[in-house]
Amino acid sequence: KEFRNNVKPNWCPGCGDFSVQAAIQRAAANIGLEPEQLAVISGIGCSGRISGYINAYGLHGIHGRALPIAQGVKLANRELTVIASGGDGDGFAIGMGHTVHAIRRNLDITYIVMDNQIYGLTKGQTSPRSAEGFKTKSTPEGSIESTLSPLEIALSAGATFVAQSFSSDLKQLTTLIEAGLSHKGFSLINVFSPCVTFNKVNTYDWFKENIVNLEQFPDYDPSNRIAAMTKIMETNGMLTGLIYQDKTRPSYEDLAVGFKPEALAKQDLTLSRDDFDKLVKEFK
Ligand code: SF4
Repeated sequence: KEFRNNVKPNWCPGCGDFSVQAAIQRAAANIGLEPEQLAVISGIGCSGRISGYINAYGLHGIHGRALPIAQGVKLANRELTVIASGGDGDGFAIGMGHTVHAIRRNLDITYIVMDNQIYGLTKGQTSPRSAEGFKTKSTPEGSIESTLSPLEIALSAGATFVAQSFSSDLKQLTTLIEAGLSHKGFSLINVFSPCVTFNKVNTYDWFKENIVNLEQFPDYDPSNRIAAMTKIMETNGMLTGLIYQDKTRPSYEDLAVGFKPEALAKQDLTLSRDDFDKLVKEFK
């Protein structure tokens, strides 16, 4: 199972996105997928290039729209394992409407966000994940906006799987992606993925000092939503690990009446010519 292809990533040396790519490739192999069983759909941003660097079906979409495309792919072919991916600007600014509704819809896809707390591709502007006071070209006096908390929003929107990890912890990241891919429903994995070129504040060392690994709390129960929200708030969103999982809620596909498990392309076209003509007439 070879999820590597021969395309050389053009991320800056040291970019956190390299680890996310490696973790996806390892996780997919570890759970026994074949390349033709996986689709990776990405948005726009440095992180959006990831769909071209993995040997699987891939689509580099448009800004903030990875999730609508990924959901369409999953609805058309339930046999595929579908990953949507992008950056924090892509998913939590222009794409936030899609993110919230994909979460509550609970289609069986995994959304991996490479959260570097800045816009990297456009050379360093403040993103919704930037801290208050963060100075960039777009906020030379420091950001005066509050920082968006994707974990709190995901839990409030009814998420059934919420995890967070760090590019430097490849083992944890791979394990969480495996868990997300195996989860029956929508899984959100937010990854602290440093931009070494434009973000000189949220560096690898900064994350190492500020991250709170859930392993520190052996009694933590990820099935307890209130405990999850409390822990996220107590740690100012710096928690890593499997934060919340609801294994009981059925996925969208499981609830949708008449939704057949076979890929659309494999289903028989049962419509007669007369019925088809009638249908076409209705839409004229
Ligand atoms: Fe990575 Fe930042 Fe370079 Fe983009 S600009 S490739 S996010 S290090």
